[in-house]
Amino acid sequence: DPVLAIVGRPNVGKSTLVNRILGRREAVVEDTPGVTRDRVQYTADWNGRNFTLVDTGGWERDARGIHLRVAEQAEIAVEMADVVLLVVDAVVGITASDEAIVRMLRKAGKPVVLVGNKVDDIVQEADNASLWGLGLGEPYPVSAVHGRGVADMLDHVMDVLPEFSAVAGVDRTGGPRRVALIGRPNVGKSSLLNKLAGTERVVVDNVAGTTRDPVDELIELGDRTWRFVDTAGIRRRQHMAQGADFYASLRTQTALEKAEVAVVLLAVDEILSEQDVRILQLAIESGRALVLAFNKWDLLDDERRKYLEREIEQDLAHVEWAPRVNISAKTGWHKDRLVPALDLALANWDRRIPTGRLNAFLGELVSEHPHPVRGGKQPRILFGTQASSRPPKFVLFTTGFLDPGYRRFITRRLRETFGFEGTPIEVSMRVRE
Ligand code: GDP
Repeated sequence: DPVLAIVGRPNVGKSTLVNRILGRREAVVEDTPGVTRDRVQYTADWNGRNFTLVDTGGWERDARGIHLRVAEQAEIAVEMADVVLLVVDAVVGITASDEAIVRMLRKAGKPVVLVGNKVDDIVQEADNASLWGLGLGEPYPVSAVHGRGVADMLDHVMDVLPEFSAVAGVDRTGGPRRVALIGRPNVGKSSLLNKLAGTERVVVDNVAGTTRDPVDELIELGDRTWRFVDTAGIRRRQHMAQGADFYASLRTQTALEKAEVAVVLLAVDEILSEQDVRILQLAIESGRALVLAFNKWDLLDDERRKYLEREIEQDLAHVEWAPRVNISAKTGWHKDRLVPALDLALANWDRRIPTGRLNAFLGELVSEHPHPVRGGKQPRILFGTQASSRPPKFVLFTTGFLDPGYRRFITRRLRETFGFEGTPIEVSMRVRE
């Protein structure tokens, strides 16, 4: 679902507005000063459209201590949002804190809907001039307490909100896990698909009426159903002669976009080609979970085996985190090894490290291996959090830019400590001046 984040300084009525949008009375969490709270997420709907509503604590200028933490959470919420609802107190008018929030939102570059709250009756008109002055377009005056103006405001939000979250990449539909089986022509994709599907194949035409649209297949493996995306592309290739290369790479990308996990098929009877490496790179960059499958194992001889080991060491060192399966699509040898590898990769792809655990890890790491001093300065890591999963993405709040080498070191330690086999992970930073 698309994500709508609500931000605003404390006491502007965010929680009341959240309750109003959710259409219920019970209090969420109050903006009690001194009470730590994280982002709070709700499933909401308006006019039959579902979206995720993310409530944040108050965002304060010169935030320190507990407020700093809340501010960080708000920044992360904004980063994860498709649209941001900025709530201000229309009666009080615009404060310096509001202006600071607007600067933060400008940097984030997300669409913002401005809401002037506490316009409880007609005579008590909003300080419209100062609201317009924020440069965020038309302000929506509402009374979260009475509900006035909320419907109009939500209608507008629905216009701005995208159909699907552009941030999450893939939807959590609860349907079968989606697998992209990719690899250069002749690596054995069709053969493997046939071996896996057996005769119980269910072809799912997801866009009816056109023969050129990708078709998925539902395949039972290890007592569960898996959705192999765009398998028509795999099968169709056999009838294509020219332009197969271009077509293959196009197919790879569409398949990756639809999938949650990629199985990159490599064949052990030939040396690793440029095209193999390119396809692997596409898979890594897609942010999907990843399994490497080495096919045609029945053709492997001793000489070739030596080459292969060297190739894996040299050319595949950057994906040593991906589980590897040796198989033969022809004989079916080891085909049951695929499911455990997929499960492992997807479990890690889905994973969330609790903020407390992450910061304990960071604290230990920093005390053992502090960042080197550069030009008399030593950037500190204030706080870290996992901003999202699928794949796991971490944000570090720092007092200065971290060396690329130090960032790689942190990434490596994250993997060693938490074991993210089968998933890419991302570490980024936010520097606070
Ligand atoms: P695709 O282009 O990736 O779909 O590859 P295909 O499935 O069409 O296979 C290309 C060729 O490799 C065919 O002649 C297959 O019979 C052969 N092949 C596929 N997998 C294996 C395998 O595990 N062992 C052997 N010996 N041949 C295989």
